[in-house]
Amino acid sequence: MPIRQLPQSLINKIAAGEVIERPASLVKELMENAVDAGATRIDVAVEAGGRELVRVVDSGGGIPAEELPLAVASHATSKLAEADDLFRIATLGFRGEALASIGAVSRMLVRSRPPQAAAGAEIEVTGGRASEVSPCGCPVGTVVEVRDLFFNTPVRRKFLRTNQTEFGHLSEAFTRIALGAPQIHFTLKHGQRTVFELPGGEDWRERIGRFFGRELADNLIAVESVDGEVSLSGYVANPTHSRGNNRMQYLFLGGRHIRDRSLQHALGEAYRGLLMTGRYPIAFLSLAMPPETVDVNVHPTKLEVRFQDAGRLYSQLLSTLRARFLNTDLTAHVGAPPAEDEAPGGHDPARTTQLRQQLVDWAKGKVSAWDTSEGAGGEAAAFSAGQPRDERRPLELARIDRGLAWTPAVPHPASIPETDPAAEPVENESGDGPAAAPAATPRASALQIHNRYLVTETQQGVTIIDQHALHERILYEHLRARVEAGAIETQALLVPEPVDFSAAEAAAALEHRELLARLGMKIEPFGGDTVLLAGYPAMLANLNPTEILHELIEGLLSSGKTPEPRDLLDDLLHTIACKAAIKAGDRLAPEEIEALLTQSHLVDDPHHCPHGRPTALVFTREELDKRFKRI
Ligand code: ADP
Ligand code: MG
Repeated sequence: MPIRQLPQSLINKIAAGEVIERPASLVKELMENAVDAGATRIDVAVEAGGRELVRVVDSGGGIPAEELPLAVASHATSKLAEADDLFRIATLGFRGEALASIGAVSRMLVRSRPPQAAAGAEIEVTGGRASEVSPCGCPVGTVVEVRDLFFNTPVRRKFLRTNQTEFGHLSEAFTRIALGAPQIHFTLKHGQRTVFELPGGEDWRERIGRFFGRELADNLIAVESVDGEVSLSGYVANPTHSRGNNRMQYLFLGGRHIRDRSLQHALGEAYRGLLMTGRYPIAFLSLAMPPETVDVNVHPTKLEVRFQDAGRLYSQLLSTLRARFLNTDLTAHVGAPPAEDEAPGGHDPARTTQLRQQLVDWAKGKVSAWDTSEGAGGEAAAFSAGQPRDERRPLELARIDRGLAWTPAVPHPASIPETDPAAEPVENESGDGPAAAPAATPRASALQIHNRYLVTETQQGVTIIDQHALHERILYEHLRARVEAGAIETQALLVPEPVDFSAAEAAAALEHRELLARLGMKIEPFGGDTVLLAGYPAMLANLNPTEILHELIEGLLSSGKTPEPRDLLDDLLHTIACKAAIKAGDRLAPEEIEALLTQSHLVDDPHHCPHGRPTALVFTREELDKRFKRI
């Protein structure tokens, strides 16, 4: 076939294929136009899942009668004047092809009236053919009605699914735009049924609750941060609430719903250890930044964007969430929902700020910003703020026979107790006479049951702790702190031990030699697929070093093609912590129980083990009273 210039009508049909995929696309494009027009109210009504009719009515600025033909023409927009504008877009639309595309594949009616016009005007487009503009009576604003989508492109029409499925997509499109513009009053009707009625100007949490239920809304944790010209705000769900996929991660950039793999990854990172494998965090986050620092013209439906400084944004999100979680009680409450999200109170605000900064630094990889001056010899300094040294000094964790005794040379920022010492209950919580435990122990002893759980009475009720999970978490936090500070101890082998691997394993081991060395695992090439083990982490003294090395390398290989060093390190830390921790089935001496309980105050999130299983369950007294029908 010879090369031919395509007629405009065919060009429009091709373009429509990109933008208009199904009824949901109509809702998206028309609602975006209404938002851009400054509407305070937008009503969406659809029939038969949107395939018969989609009508969007808005109270916005309208289109002057003489501009109606242009509005439905392709590449005609009021939102861009010159090329440079493309790099500072503040509207949802800008390509000027939505109305033309919709008109090319449906029967579309646009009726509009700007506030200053005495009457309205309308134009009809049928399969790409526009009618004359004619006057009509209508209120201020715009109505766009789209009937018989794909009536002239039967193949497309065949791809449409059931009305229910189409309505599902359409409702998702509605949700995204309505979440991005809480100031606007929205309604959605399907046939005779009003599906959503959302008053304008409501609080974001309220609006989220209207879509996803009160229960979730009540379990959202507010987050907020500013980094240079970028501000981030919104909500993330308590880890008690998660999903089996990442579809409940709503990200908005200046009101536009976007998807961003990197930010989704940051979100996953922030929840690492808080969710079970295969579970995804729920988040509603809104980003604001100068329009010129982001390119929104990189995706056909503008779902993806390109940030000028994606790396910094990643760090900002990760550190904001980490700092927030550190200040939030994430205990898995049994029966009762966790406390309402509130500003963490009850402790020194200056300390909190410092803590947050350290964590931010950690999240950004600025390890040097850590307060290492308090290192060996001065380890108690950070713990002793406002309290006699002995009361703050962590008890040596028992199990010396396993090489688990340690005092953190560099306290992890998270290892500073959050509780105001003055507020610490000093009386024996069990209420039967004076405390038997030493004054340094903040809580009464626990009872070990089935050699795996510790049951302890607290002020609020009863806490049941999984001994392995808690110890693992404690070890993980302290290990991480040590590794970050380069302070992990290596036990050198008198005679280096040759360890045989598969070719892939040997390659992975040598490739990640430096990383392993940071963990105290020293290896050297020996030739062939054999590696020499020259030293291993001192804390693993009584475990078989060859076995541990094998396990670490398997971890390296199973963690994917090119994992981030931080992820790898984290995985390795988890493996070591898990190996080194006491096990379910280990009988603990009273001092060991005390040591564990005391340590549990010294890590940021003692409530979840690194695999995401809860480390502790809390039964509040109220919950118990309820279950026993006392109240
Ligand atoms: P874009 O939104 O990319 O500019 P569209 O094809 O969606 O392109 O719309 C073309 C133009 O028609 C818009 O630039 C705007 O000027 C006008 N327009 C469309 N819908 C509305 C509306 N609901 N209210 C006011 N003006 C509208
Ligand atoms: Mg548009």
